[in-house]
Amino acid sequence: MRYIEPHGHMVSRVTDDYQDMVSCGCAAVCEPAFWAGFDRSSAAGFYDYFCQLTEHEPKRAARFGLPHYCWLCINPKESEDTKLASEVIELIPRFMDKPTVLGIGEIGLNKNSRNELKVLEMHVDLAARYDQLILVHTPHLEDKLKGTRLILDVLRNHPRIRPERCVIDHVEEHTVKQVLDRGFWAGMTLYPESKCTAARAIDILDVYGAERIWMNSACDWGVSVPLAVPKAALEMRRRGHSNEFIDGVIYQNPIRFMSQSPRFKIP
Ligand SMILES: [Zn+2]
Repeated sequence: MRYIEPHGHMVSRVTDDYQDMVSCGCAAVCEPAFWAGFDRSSAAGFYDYFCQLTEHEPKRAARFGLPHYCWLCINPKESEDTKLASEVIELIPRFMDKPTVLGIGEIGLNKNSRNELKVLEMHVDLAARYDQLILVHTPHLEDKLKGTRLILDVLRNHPRIRPERCVIDHVEEHTVKQVLDRGFWAGMTLYPESKCTAARAIDILDVYGAERIWMNSACDWGVSVPLAVPKAALEMRRRGHSNEFIDGVIYQNPIRFMSQSPRFKIP
């Protein structure tokens, strides 16, 4: 089995997780910028985090022969403070030339507030100006449907954003259709407690097909399973899906999306 982990918060994980992922066939990992579990007190905290994502973490992954890519942004959870958000967004172009940066993400909404929307629009504009791919985080639970609609509207209303260059992550049964119908890519996050289980994700593939969709584990500092993608692949096999279909979802699809960035090298 071979797979890409297209959304893994590796700075939160121990080195053993890298060993396990590579042992299970992981060929590349992509790490979006994320909330640290606490609010950073200044833009300097983000500067250090961006150094970690673009310099330190690729070296740690390379010890196991694993290519590591990243996405940069201030996450929606810290977007209420628009002054801080502006300062962080100003830092991002300094890191854009790093060889492993794939784009802007994971941007989006958390509580669907006015300030979050404003910061989302700033990020989308930054991505358009620098011709970057976009990775979007959609809100949790009761805020997800409305938040997904608002996010898709922001992306569609921007004249220079092309939907095939944006992936909308954490889709579920009630949001996947509108994402795919509008030409965007969709990501399904496999979590043991919230978001999708493997069984639900495979049901979604059975209903909507596997044209522009991928699976990820997110594997952050909370309850999450870094091997969720290969485990879901075993479940797909148990349910009778062919090796070609499984390879398409967990390996080829992330490559098709990410290869739109000249930085991404097919592993
Ligand atoms: Zn994430």
